[in-house]
Amino acid sequence: MIEGDQVLMSGNEAIARGAIEAGIRFCASYPGTPSTEITEYIMKTSDRRDIHAEWSTNEKVALEASTAASWAGLPALCPMKSLGLNVAADFLLNVNLSGTGDGGLVIVVCDDPRGHSSSNEQDSRFYSKAAHLPLLEPSSCQQAKDIMPYAFEISKRYEIPVIVRSTTRLSHTRAIVELGEVPDIEIESAHDIPSNLYNVPRPDFKHKQLLAKLDDIKEDFEKSRFNKLDSSDKRVRILASGITNRYSEEAMRKLDLEDIEILSITTTFPLPGKSVLKALDSATHVLFAEEGQPFTEENVAVLFAKRKNRTVPELHGKIDGVIERYGELNVDKVAHALSRITGCEFRPVPPEFEERAQKSRELLLDRPPTFCPGCGHRAVYWAIKKAKQRFDKPVVVTGDIGCYSMGIFYDSSLDTMQAMGSSIGTASGLGQLSRFGFDQKVIAVAGDSTFFHACLPGLVNARNKNADLTFIVIDNNTTAMTGFQPSPSSHIQRGETFSVDIENIARAALPDYIDIGIASDIPATTDLIHENLTRDGLKIIIVKAVCRLAEREDSKAERPKVYIDADSCIGENCKLCMTQFGCLAIEWNEEEDHSEIENHLCVRCGDCIVVCPHDAIRRG
Ligand code: SF4
Ligand code: SF4
Repeated sequence: MIEGDQVLMSGNEAIARGAIEAGIRFCASYPGTPSTEITEYIMKTSDRRDIHAEWSTNEKVALEASTAASWAGLPALCPMKSLGLNVAADFLLNVNLSGTGDGGLVIVVCDDPRGHSSSNEQDSRFYSKAAHLPLLEPSSCQQAKDIMPYAFEISKRYEIPVIVRSTTRLSHTRAIVELGEVPDIEIESAHDIPSNLYNVPRPDFKHKQLLAKLDDIKEDFEKSRFNKLDSSDKRVRILASGITNRYSEEAMRKLDLEDIEILSITTTFPLPGKSVLKALDSATHVLFAEEGQPFTEENVAVLFAKRKNRTVPELHGKIDGVIERYGELNVDKVAHALSRITGCEFRPVPPEFEERAQKSRELLLDRPPTFCPGCGHRAVYWAIKKAKQRFDKPVVVTGDIGCYSMGIFYDSSLDTMQAMGSSIGTASGLGQLSRFGFDQKVIAVAGDSTFFHACLPGLVNARNKNADLTFIVIDNNTTAMTGFQPSPSSHIQRGETFSVDIENIARAALPDYIDIGIASDIPATTDLIHENLTRDGLKIIIVKAVCRLAEREDSKAERPKVYIDADSCIGENCKLCMTQFGCLAIEWNEEEDHSEIENHLCVRCGDCIVVCPHDAIRRG
């Protein structure tokens, strides 16, 4: 693909292409929806372009590694999902002061309004305000690409990180993008890093310097070609940022409104106040269309509040409730807000359509998210359930982030699920409460990638404080939820990397007991878990599992088929394999009144064989 080509790209691919056109030499990231494809795109061509691209242990490490490259003069990119920025924030709110050197560093954060693939719907833009760092919000796939060289330009000029914010709809939408030139860079040598990369003893001085940079950046943003802040004589104006530009255009078409101006702000922080006020001057009503919290709305309200003796337009958005403050924005929400402001009529769908939609909804089966057929996580949760039933005390199971989070939907197998690493962190707290009368035994569950990402401090805490808990690490050798990126323990990795063995790390924490289990051996795993529940102290069980989606097709074919013997299945009176074990490959044969296995879905793992109390499920 060369300069001038028009290519269908997702927003994430466009961001990655833009970073390549900006001449990046280093990219470090941790996978997380909706940001993963940025790094994957770069990895596809990283060898050819001599870009170092890695999946780091977590987002903080990714930011530290990419900052280090920038210190050494190499332009560096650090993409992550919203929640990842929380992990990286400790470093971010230090390196903002000490600076990123002359290489340039751009952090791309992809927010997930409504939490399609996230446990919250945070608005990461507030980090730019907290860290006093410039923030850019592209509005289209083309702009997502074009803005990256601009972001690097600012970062290099001021030697601070620049944050580019995307949201799920922009990251995953696809549109035609016209490509720019990829610079034919001689392989630059990294240079020695400066020796003043710290903030002590006077972080306040560094803070003062950063604020001065921010003032200069604001002046740059006043002239930015990425904003559309033209003067207008329209009474009603929309100030949109990011993908909401597209929603606003469509909402106006839907309402057949013409007498409204859409203004677009891409350089959202620091806000180019003079241009914004000029563009909104003489408006009677301004609607703020933005994903997340009323970030720009509040910033503009402050600008207006400072203007003395001037008429202020009515400001509408999430503060006055014209747009609800939670959930994801869409065309209808913007149209509804416009109808409330202008008084024009808006019906999202005609009544007869709504009736039909309601009938369709009634036909839908209530199907919560679940594990893939043959998934080792299902087998482990089944074993936990059986061990709990056998144990004579109450048990609490703390969960973590990964495919195994779906234990929440699997017969409420998990009691908690918060952030990366929280399984063992919260368990280390619960495991010390017996002297206060806390009487539940504690099991923490995490996966291999999460073990390395954020569980190690919790594990050390549990050992150090002698917490009583059983830590189950389900090791399926991949970061499956985001598309099979390698975890540090994966055997197949890119480049010259070493596989870091979970068992060795776990043993180094000096647990009182450590066992290795096999997920597909459900009876043995059940015994292991039960035995550890009866013990006191820090117990670790590493359960080897297989991700059935990552598994090779031919290895499935090597296993004998699994079937349900119709004569042995007691039918309607049981259904345990479907309703409780719940493998998606097991179906109900209505006519013959027994369960049966769908061969095209079944991966022949055999996990269900031990589940049937009537020995109806067999191999052969
Ligand atoms: S658990 Fe066994 S007996 Fe019960 S429905 Fe399934 S196959 Fe039939
Ligand atoms: S063998 Fe049983 S548990 Fe495994 S995929 Fe087939 S039906 Fe599901």
